[in-house]
Amino acid sequence: MPDVRPGVVTGAAYQAVIDAAKAGGYALPAVNVVGTNSVNAVLEAAAAAKSDVILQLSNGGAEFFAGQGYPDKHEARVLGAVSCAHHVHLLAERYGICVALHTDHANKALIPWVEALVGHSERHFERTGQPLFSSHMLDLSEETLDDNIALSKAMLERMAKLGMSLEIELGVTGGEEDGVGHELEEGADNSHLYTQPEDVLKAYEALAPIGHFSVAASFGNVHGVYKPGNVQLRPEILRNSQALVESTHGTAKNPLHLVFHGGSGSDPEKIAEAVRYGVFKMNIDTDTQFAFAETVGAYVFANERAFRFQLDPDDGKPYKKVYDPRKWLRKGEQGIVKRLQQAFEDLGAVGRSVCA
Ligand SMILES: [Zn+2]
Repeated sequence: MPDVRPGVVTGAAYQAVIDAAKAGGYALPAVNVVGTNSVNAVLEAAAAAKSDVILQLSNGGAEFFAGQGYPDKHEARVLGAVSCAHHVHLLAERYGICVALHTDHANKALIPWVEALVGHSERHFERTGQPLFSSHMLDLSEETLDDNIALSKAMLERMAKLGMSLEIELGVTGGEEDGVGHELEEGADNSHLYTQPEDVLKAYEALAPIGHFSVAASFGNVHGVYKPGNVQLRPEILRNSQALVESTHGTAKNPLHLVFHGGSGSDPEKIAEAVRYGVFKMNIDTDTQFAFAETVGAYVFANERAFRFQLDPDDGKPYKKVYDPRKWLRKGEQGIVKRLQQAFEDLGAVGRSVCA
C-alpha cells in the first residue's frame, strides 16, 4: 500500500483509500457541499468519526461557491469548484484524515465544465505533482450506451495522465440532482432505474485499460427522499454486475468500484448489502441539507425576535449576540456533523481512516 497521508488524496493514494474500504467492508460518505460552512462541517464530522471522507460539488454547488451574483454561470461553476478545492487542500491535512475531492453529475451539456476543471488540475499537476480533484463524474445516462462510453473514454484518457479517476453512470438514478435527471413519477414504470449487468461489462472493457474509474449503477436508488413504496432497492443488481465481470475476465472478487447515489433516506440494511457488493462511496445530500435547515430553523424559531429587531422593541435589549451569523450558521454545521455521524456508522466507516 502506498504511503497515504492526511490531506487531499489523489492518484495511487485515492485508489488505496478505495481498496481499503472495499477490503475492509465499509464505504465512505460523499457529501455535497455548497460553501465553507458545509465543507468545514464535513471535515469536522470525518475527524470526529476518524474516518476518511469524500467531498463533492454539484454544478450548482460549485456555482454557489463562487457566489450566485457572479455574472457568468460557466465561469462561476469552474471558479467556485477551484476555490473549494484550494480551501480543502489547505485545511484537510490539519484535520488529520484523508479527503477525496470530487464533482457530481455532469450531463453532456456540462462536459465543458468538467473539461475546464481538468485543465485547472493539469496546471496544478505541473506545479505540485498532484491534480486539484481526485475524481470527476460524467452522467451520460441520457445518451446511448455507445455515446456514453465513447465520451467517458475520451475524458478518462486525459484524466488518467494525472492519476485522476472518473465516475460514470449506467442506468438512471431516479429523481433529479441539480437539474440533471428527472423528477420521479410516483407509481410509474420504473424499470429504467435498474442497470443491466451486460452494460456494466461493456463499460468495464472500454475503460479498465485506460485508467481508474467507478460506476454509479442503478439499482432502484433515487435522489431525494420520497414516501416509501415507490421504488424498490435491488442491490443484487450490483452483485450480478460484479459476478459478470469476474467470470468473464477472471478477476478477483468485486472488481468494480461502485457508487451508491441517492443514499439519503435509505434503509441501513440495504446500505450494508450494497457495501458488501463493492460500493465504496455513498452520496448524501438531501439528508445533510435537511439537517442544516432543521437546526438553523429551530434556532430561528426559538429566537424569533432577534431576527426581526436589532433591539427588543419592549425593553431595548440588544440582540447582536443572537443574530450574529456565526451563531446560527454554527447550528447548521452542527446539524450536518450530527447527521454524518449516522452516515459513518451506517457505512461501517467509524475509526477506519487509513491515515489517522
Ligand atoms: Zn447522484
